[in-house]
Amino acid sequence: MLRLFRTTRMWHPRDLRDRYDVVIVGGGVHGLACAYYLAERGVRDVAVLEKQYLGAGASGRNTAIIRSNYRTPEGVAFYDESVRLYEELSARLGYNVLFSQQGHLTLAHTDSAIMGLRVRAEVNQLCGVRSRLVWPDEIRKLVPALDVSDRPRYPVLAALYHPPGGIVRHDAVVWGYAREADRLGAHLHPHTEVTGIDVAGGQVTGVRTTRGNVRTGVVLNATAGFCSTIAKMVDLRLPITTHPLQAFVTEPLKAFLDKVIVSANLHVYVSQTDRGECVIGSEIDPYLSYSHRSTLPFLEATAHHTLELFPCLKDVRVLRQWAGICDMTPDYSPIMGEVPGLRGFYLDVGWGTYGFKAGPVSGRRMAELIATGQTPDLIKPFSITRFWEDRLIGEKAAAAVSH
Ligand SMILES: Cc1cc2nc3c(=O)[nH]c(=O)nc-3n(C[C@H](O)[C@H](O)[C@H](O)COP(=O)(O)OP(=O)(O)OC[C@H]3O[C@@H](n4cnc5c(N)ncnc54)[C@H](O)[C@@H]3O)c2cc1C
Repeated sequence: MLRLFRTTRMWHPRDLRDRYDVVIVGGGVHGLACAYYLAERGVRDVAVLEKQYLGAGASGRNTAIIRSNYRTPEGVAFYDESVRLYEELSARLGYNVLFSQQGHLTLAHTDSAIMGLRVRAEVNQLCGVRSRLVWPDEIRKLVPALDVSDRPRYPVLAALYHPPGGIVRHDAVVWGYAREADRLGAHLHPHTEVTGIDVAGGQVTGVRTTRGNVRTGVVLNATAGFCSTIAKMVDLRLPITTHPLQAFVTEPLKAFLDKVIVSANLHVYVSQTDRGECVIGSEIDPYLSYSHRSTLPFLEATAHHTLELFPCLKDVRVLRQWAGICDMTPDYSPIMGEVPGLRGFYLDVGWGTYGFKAGPVSGRRMAELIATGQTPDLIKPFSITRFWEDRLIGEKAAAAVSH
């Protein structure tokens, strides 16, 4: 019989071995990217343990905004490396991740918001990242569908324009890393929940799972919204709280929007995918929860704010709505690296509402740390020790609504 399509598996089922050099807990973009970059460095005796399916966590639920226009020099340098890695990711993985650098605008509706954006523009430019303030005349040209009149209650006064920002296809990123990690020899184990971690004499010695025990000297916690539950297994209390974050998409529309639009003042952001759907989101729900349920109040408030910006969406129907969970740190920056006094336990957590864009850089730099024992300069500032050394990296101004 003529076979029109050759079907190949993206990754392969493997027996769970009773020993691995490295165990990564969490099969999201961070865990999979780290497995890939480790394998690329020749560290291939690696298992990724995921309690559900690959990408079941926030990596399969996010709105896929990629940008590097952060507020602190540490943050800008870190996310800038990720944007660069995204630019070459399709070629590297041999898999089209549909990275569209369409440009990203953060709107200001008040004088104080303009001051905040001005600081970000300056920091970005000093770090070599393209960002600048733009005013209503230019905003009108960049985004004709946006209401830049004085009709809305809070008119648009200015924006931070960041041309390299954009959106990516999140599933493709997850699948691409998974496929390449598998091809290079890492073992991906979906439906394998870690239930305990063994430690002896201050050194990690193994993990317990729903499919049996595994001996290992290295465990990476890459479980985002669930990271505190894994840390608890080694008696570590993280400065992290978990909140739901929701989003929704509209029915597909003719292309009318080719920029990512964010308004922190109005608590809303909007982009349009290649399929024509508008992807719309907001900030975290204010309560702590592991719930993945979406709510009507979120939909009502966020739709209302969207119409302030885009009255043309008035009669558009909502196609679906969903929620994920986010691991929030007090300073809206991640926690990466080793834990003093606990050899072999590594953290790649605190990704909050902004961690998808960091998948490539954190995967690459955490792999470097695990493989060489040396903490790369780029991730040194994000060590857990900053919380007791009083040197927080305050990114809330650039990461609360702008994911
Ligand atoms: C609605 C929404 C919109 C977002 N928008 C953006 C955005 O536009 N841009 C951006 O950069 N970021 C965004 N984010 C944040 C981003 O999605 C996350 O920060 C990022 O995906 C975290 O990736 P991860 O691999 O660390 O974690 P996850 O993808 O959450 O993966 C962690 C995995 O660990 C698994 N796990 C948990 N416990 C265990 C256990 N005991 N054993 C085994 N496995 C376990 C979970 O099942 C999960 O699959 C958004 C998030 C949400 C929810």
